[in-house]
Amino acid sequence: MTTVTGEMMARGHEQVVFVTDVASGLRAIIAVHSTALGPALGGVRFWHYEREEDALLDVLRLSEAMTLKASIAGLHQGGGKVVVLLDAVDAPHPEPMLLALGRAIDELGGRYLAAEDVGATQGDMDVIARETPWVTGVAPTAGGSGDPSPVTALGVLAAIRAVAQALDGAPDISGYRVAVQGAGHVGAHLVADLAAAGASVVVADVNDVRAHEVAVAHGAEVVVSDDILAVECDVFAPCALGGVLSEAAVPLLRCRAVCGAANNQLADDHVDDLLYERGVLYGPDFVANAGGIINIAEEFTGYSRDRALARAEAIEGTMTRVLERARAEDRGPGGVAEDIARERIAREGSSNRWHPGDPAAWTNGQPLTRLRPAHAQPGHLQLGSSS
Ligand code: NAD
Repeated sequence: MTTVTGEMMARGHEQVVFVTDVASGLRAIIAVHSTALGPALGGVRFWHYEREEDALLDVLRLSEAMTLKASIAGLHQGGGKVVVLLDAVDAPHPEPMLLALGRAIDELGGRYLAAEDVGATQGDMDVIARETPWVTGVAPTAGGSGDPSPVTALGVLAAIRAVAQALDGAPDISGYRVAVQGAGHVGAHLVADLAAAGASVVVADVNDVRAHEVAVAHGAEVVVSDDILAVECDVFAPCALGGVLSEAAVPLLRCRAVCGAANNQLADDHVDDLLYERGVLYGPDFVANAGGIINIAEEFTGYSRDRALARAEAIEGTMTRVLERARAEDRGPGGVAEDIARERIAREGSSNRWHPGDPAAWTNGQPLTRLRPAHAQPGHLQLGSSS
């Protein structure tokens, strides 16, 4: 890394806020990448980093990815992210620490909207919501959108239909063999959705029990997790960790396409080209997995799960557009998806930063003063001490 501001300039970040609270031990970095399309939304990641530089790079990279994801999904929001630096990955998140983070988020006046990410729970969001209205993913009883995983899985299924269209000329996956890596929140729903659509599914998880439970419930086959990458199949669907598509992994693949829920699947951008050269069709991750933020965006106008699911289905059309342009331009779909996202920001985005008190796209020109309709507010004062 050059300098902090140098890195921000290179990636186009608007604002990075370092936050500490001595009393609670909070150490966090809030990154607002872009507010050109609206307030910057992104998750709060609780993680242990060996070096502070790693945490900074992570939050810069993740917040930029959120900007691209929101843009290509057609949402009226920008990209942001928070990392909370823990002494150990499984260290607790004491209430005073979460409240201090809530106050820091509140000071940004809505420029950054918090959500759940790795290590975070709905309970954490509920505590943060006692200090600020600028937080999503709170309890459904408070107008929150609940577990996003079924919506994310449905969006990935829609993306796989677009992949099938590009491969075989029809959005029909019955008879497809799909290898799902990770039987967690999204993976388990995806296995169910794929089976219901008539695909035969192979699943793997480092947690064998979880893989078997999911397989038995939906008639899938299980392989050990080290083998899933090399399963002969139509589509490999990464639904575990990022970085799974490395230079070393590409030659091992025996699939026709890759399309799954995991964030940051490419170990680096160059792998987009490697996949393309090998003839493996890549359905870009941030297009396929946008169901999570599509689900959250529904909170702003009064949450409806049915509407969120219907909007996640639109990912099929977005993915089709990406894959068709990639074919026309004879290059990897990852770079094409990034271009489409950046072109929308250039076309529709404001050249001014979003300021507290500005309207949002869904407020009919009125200042954004709350995230959810009045009847659904978590009431950061009313929630009392629940966590
Ligand atoms: P999760 O933690 O519930 O599930 C991940 C699963 O992967 C776990 O069961 C874990 O044991 C397994 N796993 C870890 N390493 C593995 C490996 N090497 N091989 C096989 N299995 C492995 O997470 P999730 O919420 O299901 O999310 C999965 C991925 O999708 C993550 O990358 C996440 O960032 C991304 N994502 C999730 C959502 C959402 O709505 N939850 C939205 C967008 C993106």
